Amino acid sequence: MDTPETLLVIGAGHAGVELAFSARQQGWAGPIVLLGEEPHLPYHRPPLSKAFLCGTSDVDSLALRQATAFDASNIHLQLGVRVRAIDRAAHEVLLDDGASQSYAKLALCTGGRARLLAVPGMEGAAPPNLFSLRTQADALAIAGSLSEGARVVIIGAGYVGLEVAASARKLGAQVTVLETQPRVLARVTGAALSAFYESVHREAGVDVRTNASVAAIERDATGAANAVLCGNGERLPADVVIVGIGMLADTELAVAAGLRVEGGIVVDEHSVTSDPDIVAAGDCTVHDSALYGRRVRLESVPNALEQARAAAGWLCGKPRPNHAVPWFWSDQYDLKLQMAGLADGHDTCVVRGAIADRSFCAFYLREGRLIAVDAVNRPADFMLAKRAVAARVEVDPGMLSELAIPLAETLSTNALTKGNS
Ligand SMILES: Cc1cc2nc3c(=O)[nH]c(=O)nc-3n(C[C@H](O)[C@H](O)[C@H](O)COP(=O)(O)OP(=O)(O)OC[C@H]3O[C@@H](n4cnc5c(N)ncnc54)[C@H](O)[C@@H]3O)c2cc1C
Repeated sequence: MDTPETLLVIGAGHAGVELAFSARQQGWAGPIVLLGEEPHLPYHRPPLSKAFLCGTSDVDSLALRQATAFDASNIHLQLGVRVRAIDRAAHEVLLDDGASQSYAKLALCTGGRARLLAVPGMEGAAPPNLFSLRTQADALAIAGSLSEGARVVIIGAGYVGLEVAASARKLGAQVTVLETQPRVLARVTGAALSAFYESVHREAGVDVRTNASVAAIERDATGAANAVLCGNGERLPADVVIVGIGMLADTELAVAAGLRVEGGIVVDEHSVTSDPDIVAAGDCTVHDSALYGRRVRLESVPNALEQARAAAGWLCGKPRPNHAVPWFWSDQYDLKLQMAGLADGHDTCVVRGAIADRSFCAFYLREGRLIAVDAVNRPADFMLAKRAVAARVEVDPGMLSELAIPLAETLSTNALTKGNS
């Protein structure tokens, strides 16, 4: 394996697996080695808070690729292996077991880990009934504790927290969600969507509390969490506590190796880092978005895949820069939410359709141009709008909200207008 033209990929998540297969497809002729710390066959992470947590999908269905696919593409997959350090001068990495592996080109696809809760009661080992959700192991542990009637307190009302709330309700648990911000999903969407999701969860029996801080975790004599103490003095008894307060990019290897890291490993549109022999893709990266004119860090499967493909293209001498529109999805109850673009900084929000029907779009505009869309149970509209976000079409808000005018007409008319302007 230690030939000079080895492509070594660290991290066997969505980005690492895609990068390895894409490089092989695009003509990487040398060995490809994929190292992953987790012991399982690489798997889809999104179902962990959805179907997998509810018990409607199993471990086998999570696999990104079957083991035979790695063999068929001659990708050498090594699981349960952690990379401890990168020696850029020697072009090799050091593994936890003391072994080393050389590379010609290196790909960092190390993803991220759950942000920890830092309040009194969290010193030392975490309580055995307090979880975060990032890995298959986390999901299995949570699933084992979500019994009917269990009192579950979820800290954080981002996508992961709300998806877990929906899954826990389906399993019959009593669920409280605590969010420090004045609204749920505050970091990722507009006020109308937040209000809608708050009402959906309340209707489903979730006790959603916004502007609610956590002061401490109360533990019993065995070390288990038995209550969450809130900033307003309230005590919420809990059988299970789930912390969903975001993710930290896994950048330690890159930092120690002296790569440029600014809240994530900095990459360009070809996913190349500050070292031309090292690419990076997925949740561990940040990049300058040409579409939004600013630095962004995206945590989504589509971004991991796009960056991985761009990296593979560049490594194989077939550059294909990544200018994809960010997009994401979330499944809660009977609702399929699809989002494209970044809504922050919008000056106008136009809702098309009736929120009460649980089938509508929220369009976000800045200076008359479409910068983002949230589509709830509207997959066809989403596809049209995603393209329009990419083109930054100029939109007449009045036309957008008018259901009698087909969306395709509104967006294409305006796209033409933009093209002629
Ligand atoms: C519960 C949950 C639900 C989600 N739902 C959605 C969704 O609905 N839609 C969506 O688009 N996105 C969703 N996401 C986000 C999405 O899963 C991530 O954006 C995506 O997994 C990122 O892929 P990645 O390969 O960059 O990182 P990861 O999936 O985190 O993979 C990185 C891998 O690298 C390994 N690794 C790290 N350091 C080392 C090392 N030193 N040595 C060896 N291996 C190492 C890690 O163990 C890990 O397996 C969800 C995430 C979670 C946690």
